[in-house]
Amino acid sequence: MDSDPTAGGDSSALPDCPRCGKPVAFSAATGPYTGSVSPCGCSVPPDLLADLWD
Ligand SMILES: [Zn+2]
Repeated sequence: MDSDPTAGGDSSALPDCPRCGKPVAFSAATGPYTGSVSPCGCSVPPDLLADLWD
C-alpha cells in the first residue's frame, strides 16, 4: 500500500531466495525437511520457505 519507491525493481513483490538472492516466484515443499524454489531451483528448507512469504 505504501507508495515507497523501491530502487530499481518491478520484482519488489517477490521474496529473495535465501540461497542465491534471486527473486522467488514460486516455492514448494518437497518433503518435511526439503523444499525448492523457482525459477532459480535452489534447495531451501521449508522453514525458510514459510519465512519468505511471511
Ligand atoms: Zn536460489
